[in-house]
Amino acid sequence: MYIVQIASECAPVIKAGGLGDVVYGLSRELDIRGNCVELILPKYDCMRYDHIWGLHEAYLNLSVPWFGGAIHCTVYCGWVHGRVCFFIEPHSEDNFFNRGCYYGCDDDDMRFAFFSKAALEFLHQSNKRPDIIHCHDWQTGLIPVMLYEIYKYHGMAHQRVCYTIHNFKHQGIGGVKTLWATGLNRESYYFQYDKLRDNFNPFALNYMKGGIVYSNAVTTVSPHHAFEAQHTEVGCGLGHTLHLQRDKFKGVLNGIDYDFWNPEIDRYIPYNYTADDFEQKIYNKKALRERLMLRASDKPIIAYIGRLDHQKGVHLVHHAIYHSLNKEAQFVLLGSATEPRINDHFRHEKAFLNSNPDVHLELGFNEELSHLIYAGADMIVVPSNYEPCGLTQMIGLKYGTVPIVRGVGGLVNTVFDRDYDPDLPAEKRNGYVFYQTDNHALESAMNRAIDLWYQSPEEFQKLATQGMKYDYSWNYPGTEYLSIYDWIRYKW
Ligand code: ADP
Repeated sequence: MYIVQIASECAPVIKAGGLGDVVYGLSRELDIRGNCVELILPKYDCMRYDHIWGLHEAYLNLSVPWFGGAIHCTVYCGWVHGRVCFFIEPHSEDNFFNRGCYYGCDDDDMRFAFFSKAALEFLHQSNKRPDIIHCHDWQTGLIPVMLYEIYKYHGMAHQRVCYTIHNFKHQGIGGVKTLWATGLNRESYYFQYDKLRDNFNPFALNYMKGGIVYSNAVTTVSPHHAFEAQHTEVGCGLGHTLHLQRDKFKGVLNGIDYDFWNPEIDRYIPYNYTADDFEQKIYNKKALRERLMLRASDKPIIAYIGRLDHQKGVHLVHHAIYHSLNKEAQFVLLGSATEPRINDHFRHEKAFLNSNPDVHLELGFNEELSHLIYAGADMIVVPSNYEPCGLTQMIGLKYGTVPIVRGVGGLVNTVFDRDYDPDLPAEKRNGYVFYQTDNHALESAMNRAIDLWYQSPEEFQKLATQGMKYDYSWNYPGTEYLSIYDWIRYKW
């Protein structure tokens, strides 16, 4: 099958969070199963060029219609750890992708509307006719809309679209300008509730809603989140749309790339290990302590790795730090905040705790350090308010780092409480789960984990190695996506 993935991220070259990991991991899995997979990405000035091999100009004269005129683009081609990627570079005063950041600009709606248009123009003009176009998140929500409203009539009637939503919070809100810029035009047609009109803001067009309505299949990144998105506030206003489209909507649990996230072969950690020589993990713990100047002591290390924002339950992350210290545990945090208020808060916290030898807060994004933390910590805490899938708990499991998670979204599908899971036998359980958003709930789960670490080290190790045996690779999701692709190719 010929599959083109179109996204705003692909790890490790462009990674702001889990989306990048998923786009790369899924592409790799589909590739090694014998499909032809290509990726189309924006050419950002700030991406990791050191991860691209053989970058060269592949298509010099891509002219993308935009408002009344056109923007001239160059398309580059290069290999990102074996995957063929096309990077679109527009030449215009808008400077869409030369902003020193991936997201967060006032005109993000126009930047990614342009990217979507350019990606389709590239397919069209270069005569690429994939069987499947797989789009991701709001940034590419307009692709199925334009495919079925414009490009279908220009020789692209047979392409089918799978659209994956990684986070409902960001939906891409545009207006009439988007329609005029992209050539969709017909205002009164698209401002209908069964098309792109936002369900709650009658003056806005919702890109993600467009993606849902026009795609042949829609997925989100875990089965439990698919349920939540339809039936709770987690759908952020799109619940009704999803309900109407329920026949083509489902949750497919993300995988993680075990070539990259695997303590047996991880190049970033000093001591490789498996479940069978789990004792080696202790040397990574030692290395982690040395790297972060934590006191050498007989205490568990609890880690948090992730964005610092409302979604991730920052108030509980904050509490987890102090509760760990109270319970004679050490705490390591690696996180970056997108909101200045939260950033200031954690900077203050870092300064306050600076001289404490049992805690280290590392503010920023550091891929290499994250591997050492996964390998060196004993537990990883994921107290999210909502979590579409969550990768950190799955990575933690692979590294024998016991997850302590809030029971929402994909965390429900991947972590099973050691003491209370009603559906699984004890030898299948792999972590700790709490449900409420208050400090006490978090504390009770942390206490159970820390107490087990102190009181029954063998039992704790058993729990950790049980987690390592779970298969959260792309193997199963790869099969699921291929069957979705088959379904939309033959059904539509
Ligand atoms: P998100 O909601 O951000 O997509 P996920 O749990 O799905 O969260 O994925 C987070 C990914 O980003 C994981 O691979 C995690 O290791 C990585 N990550 C998050 N924050 C950082 C950071 N500050 N430094 C390094 N890696 C990070």
